[in-house]
Order: sequence, then structure tokens, then C-alpha cells
Amino acid sequence: MLDDILSIIAPHHCCGCDKIGSLICSNCKYNINIEQKMVCVVCHRPTAQTWLCKNCRMPFEKVWLVGERDGTLQRLVGLYKFERARSAYRSLGDLLLGVLPELPDNTVIVPIPTTPSRIRERGYDHMLLVAKYIARKRGLQCRQLVCRQTNTKQRQSNAKKRDLQAKQAFEVRGKIDPAVPYLLIDDIITTGSTIKYASAALCKAGAKHVWVGVVARQILK
Ligand SMILES: [Zn+2]
Ligand SMILES: [Zn+2]
Repeated sequence: MLDDILSIIAPHHCCGCDKIGSLICSNCKYNINIEQKMVCVVCHRPTAQTWLCKNCRMPFEKVWLVGERDGTLQRLVGLYKFERARSAYRSLGDLLLGVLPELPDNTVIVPIPTTPSRIRERGYDHMLLVAKYIARKRGLQCRQLVCRQTNTKQRQSNAKKRDLQAKQAFEVRGKIDPAVPYLLIDDIITTGSTIKYASAALCKAGAKHVWVGVVARQILK
């Protein structure tokens, strides 16, 4: 509601083509969805119709990805994470909804938790907003089952440090039903350690089916 009012007072420009109206126009949204190259999110080798190759064993069974973190998607994620464009949760949610298949009715949407300091900086829990939006659109439950144990930030760390931080980062609070699929939602995948250890925490707590939906893939340089 507030977002609707704000968009009338200060209209958004499309991150891709600058057209006035929304943060991303339907044309640019469409282009992101068709420009995908299927590659494994872990080892980056080309795959056939799945984002996880057979060689990469992960605690999650399936993963869906919107696209590479460049161009329009890069700008949209940047606005959302670093420039307080709160209403972008809808655009990012819609992009994810575009790549997610039909999900069983009992699927639980679980956001990857953000550190409290980042939530304070932004003024919102960015992945919780996206997860809730997806759950609402699909008529599913959203639960904040995965929590952060330590207050470490991931930016600017190297791959090895990131992996260690992520390994210690997550715990599950709440009851897990092994019969229910849990779909973790995250914004960026870099090394894959965040979704790996968040999934592992869910499995350790009793989950048998963990799936992952990610907005953008970033190559760590
Ligand atoms: Zn556009
Ligand atoms: Zn792989």
C-alpha cells in the first residue's frame, strides 16, 4: 500500500531501459528470463535443464536461478540491497516466481536470514519480504526456520573465509516435518556455501526435501 502511494509520488524507472513505471518493466523482466544459460550453480559447468550437475552433491535436491548478476538484474539487486528500494521485493519475487515450477501445497518457503545489523541498515529484512511475497502469491506458508548463530557479514571475505563463516552461521529454530519440502530463498549465490550450510542445517533438523530458489549468480573474482 505504502509502496503504491510512493510510486505515484516518485515514479520508478526501469533498471533495464529507464522506462517510467516500475523498477523493472515487463519487457526487461522477460529478457532476463530468456537469456539464461543452464550451468551448475556450484561448479559452473554447463548442464541440461537443471541448475545442479550430477557431480556436485549438495544437501539440497533442487535449485532454481533467475540469472547472472549483471546488467538489469545487477542494478535491481543493488537498488534493493544497498539503496533502500524496498518495493523491489515484488520485482525480485516475480522473477523468482517466473523460474519456480509448481510446488506441492505443503511446501514451506524459508528465507535465508540476514544479520540484524544489515536489517537495521536497510530498514527491512530483504529476503523475508521476498519469501513472504512468493508464499503469498503461491498460497504457501512462509516460516523463518533458519537463523543466524553469529553476526558475521559475508561481503569482502575470500572464498575460504566465506565457507568457514557460512558453516558456522546457521541453526534451525522450530519443528521440521520430514514429509514437507522446504524451499530456501536467497538473493545471491557466490560460492554456494550459504545455501549449502543453510540446507545442511535444515537436513540436520530432520528435513528430507530441501530446495533452493536464488535470484542471481555471481562469479567470485
Ligand atoms: Zn525496461
Ligand atoms: Zn556442478
